[in-house]
Amino acid sequence: MKNIVGRFAPSPSGRMHLGNIYTALLSWLSVKSRGGKWILRIEDLDPQRSKLEHVRMIEDDLHWLGLEWDEGGLDGKGPNGPYVQSRRHHFYEEALERLKASGLCYPCTCTRADILATQAPHESDGRVVYKGTCRPALLPSPFVERPGAAVRLAVPDEEISFADRIKGPQTVNLARHCGDFIVRRGDGAWSYQLAVVVDDAFMGVTEVMRGDDLLLSAAQQIYLYRLLGYDPPEFAHVPLVCNEAGIRLSKRDRSLSMEYLRAHHSPEEILGMAAHRASLIPSPRAMSLQELMAEFENSAYFKYNLSSES
Ligand code: GLU
Repeated sequence: MKNIVGRFAPSPSGRMHLGNIYTALLSWLSVKSRGGKWILRIEDLDPQRSKLEHVRMIEDDLHWLGLEWDEGGLDGKGPNGPYVQSRRHHFYEEALERLKASGLCYPCTCTRADILATQAPHESDGRVVYKGTCRPALLPSPFVERPGAAVRLAVPDEEISFADRIKGPQTVNLARHCGDFIVRRGDGAWSYQLAVVVDDAFMGVTEVMRGDDLLLSAAQQIYLYRLLGYDPPEFAHVPLVCNEAGIRLSKRDRSLSMEYLRAHHSPEEILGMAAHRASLIPSPRAMSLQELMAEFENSAYFKYNLSSES
């Protein structure tokens, strides 16, 4: 059996809530039940929303719950650091140079308004598909630097298939799903897609477990893995935790924020609530991580067993 490496990759834009704990717990259980290693990576690429105090609170909440990481965090223990994305520019720079060398990148000066103006009315599900306004007529073609322009990566008009361990087989055509996508913004900020692939590959992550809002992003990431010559990890996308109104939890749901939960519950009670949301236990009750590990092992949580398991 290969070494299992999982990770929890929060964006430090606020205090965690039950939804974040649920994802962290499932990822921790999945990795730890198979003797694997769990990494904490801080995804702070958005300077406006990311705050150091939030990172400290995330670390403190994870410690308090007993969800210890083997590598990563602010102090960056482990051989593949730093584990904070804002300190990893040179890794992304190197990957971008390789993508540019493939001839599939081009500068793009379209604004969001320009792109919205090209959308057909039936694409009103909120998804924005880039129609290739700045795409060179012929690809591959050498990258021509244009200061202040974003860097876009051309995608093929072909199906990308992968098996998600929870959602099952998926097929995505990137040309129809998102079109050519940005790998570096015009202001120099790195795209989530590029950074997450570079980091997961470099950190040896074998299992990406996260919310199912990112399910289709996995296809963009698999494409990047392919271009950069890395093996993709296995993906397991968990259903998002919703509030009573059936809406995805956000920082506004104060009664499920860690600030409120910690003031009213023990770590075991909160772990039990998260495990109940994950259908690991039939009703919320205090559970230790050891007890939850046994529940997880017996739960057949992964509905789709992939061949690399054996
Ligand atoms: N940083 C993302 C978030 O906090 C998670 C990204 C990932 O797990 O790939 O939602």
